[in-house]
Amino acid sequence: MQNKSERHLPAGFFVRLAAYLLDSVIVGATLLVVRIPFWISSFASPDNFVVRDLIFSYSIEDIVLYVLGVLYFIILTYKTGATVGKKMLHLRVVSAEDRSMTLFEVVYRETVGRFLSALVANVGYLMIGIHKDKKGLHDLLSDTQVIYYHEKKIYVDAEVHETQAGAKVYVAANYGPIKDELSAVEEKPMLSKSEIEKQVALAFEKCEGNIISEEEAICPEVAGLQMFEAPLVGIGSAEDELYQTLKQEGVVGPWHMLPSEWLTEAKSVISLFFPFTEEVKKSNRESVGNPSTAWLYGRVEGQQYISGYIKMLGALLEEQGIKTCIPCVDERFRQIQEGSTFGSNWSERHTAYICGLGTFGLSKGIITEKGMAGRFASIIIDKEMVADERAYTGIYDYCTNCGACTYRCPVEAISLEEGKDHVKCNACLKESKEKFAPRYGCGLCQTRVPCESRIPVKR
Ligand code: SF4
Ligand code: SF4
Repeated sequence: MQNKSERHLPAGFFVRLAAYLLDSVIVGATLLVVRIPFWISSFASPDNFVVRDLIFSYSIEDIVLYVLGVLYFIILTYKTGATVGKKMLHLRVVSAEDRSMTLFEVVYRETVGRFLSALVANVGYLMIGIHKDKKGLHDLLSDTQVIYYHEKKIYVDAEVHETQAGAKVYVAANYGPIKDELSAVEEKPMLSKSEIEKQVALAFEKCEGNIISEEEAICPEVAGLQMFEAPLVGIGSAEDELYQTLKQEGVVGPWHMLPSEWLTEAKSVISLFFPFTEEVKKSNRESVGNPSTAWLYGRVEGQQYISGYIKMLGALLEEQGIKTCIPCVDERFRQIQEGSTFGSNWSERHTAYICGLGTFGLSKGIITEKGMAGRFASIIIDKEMVADERAYTGIYDYCTNCGACTYRCPVEAISLEEGKDHVKCNACLKESKEKFAPRYGCGLCQTRVPCESRIPVKR
């Protein structure tokens, strides 16, 4: 899938040099208004304090002229995206991350960035000529890019007159600018994945409960245990047609709700995969027949942590003006059991598949780039985002059908021929509730298998 920023045509070295020369002429001419009084005062008194060296070999005159020149670049770039020179050549400075530039980025670009670009024989500027995205050092340091921006005038409301000879003549009643394919500045900015990832990381840093406290631990081996690593993030479109497919009998079922049924204004879905830490996986890897204590904690206390985490993430996004809905903690969320069918009206695993996080395995877990051992959560938002590309086409693409999970299952609920028997698996989980109350779980088919912590290699 094409990233939005890839559509911007970057501006090369010579056109940017031409824009800079135009700006230098404009700034030089404008600053004559300030320069002339300085000249007059220096003629009147050659040792005048304004022309005397103040810092190194720079006088007050030099400093004032530098500050005014820099303000020209900062103010115009921040407010309009371009200086006069750039505008004349249809160039714009934009953020490299599909969002508005911050004032700090612009100030940094026009001061420290330009200083460093010029420092060693202008190498930072010359980089524009050889960099793949035509970026100079100051662009790279401030995460910005200079692109072409065309504004075409077209007739939008023409009146049609017919001549006596019958020919049609179109007369413009008015005309207005339209955005060119390449323009970026005036498009409504889409929410970028990096902005979501920042909030995901912030919530991971702030949300407590990922580490088992001494009070919670039933045995010393789990006290201080961290359950999850930082989550993987997948982005999907709320209008992805696969959500309609999930409603079909035999896929999930008609009870599965569309993103727009959870949140009317739904535009995107964020799916998160929380991989279990090595300690949790190792403990279950060593278990046979029953889950390890650390796994039981990861399953029960871990799910409580994820519920708290996803609520915190939702609150952080709401603070940014993003409307959210979190199906797994929504009061409409339902677990469904109909005969041999087990499911819910929002499937985290199918959502992860749709959002590009991975494919199903024989044991019906999702194999992500960090494997299958972990938990999922998701959040629906009202902001448009670029959906992640799915690196697969089939629902079992990442499973090698190695059969390792079949040997791990204590109740023979998985077979290469029949797939997974949910009734048997569910009975096993029920039994574990009796054995390990208030905890339960199993996950033996997710550990000590080739897809535990990675996408397995097909031979
Ligand atoms: S253990 Fe093998 S067969 Fe089972 S899900 Fe993983 S890759 Fe597929
Ligand atoms: S989770 Fe279910 S399928 Fe997997 S090993 Fe346990 S009982 Fe078997």
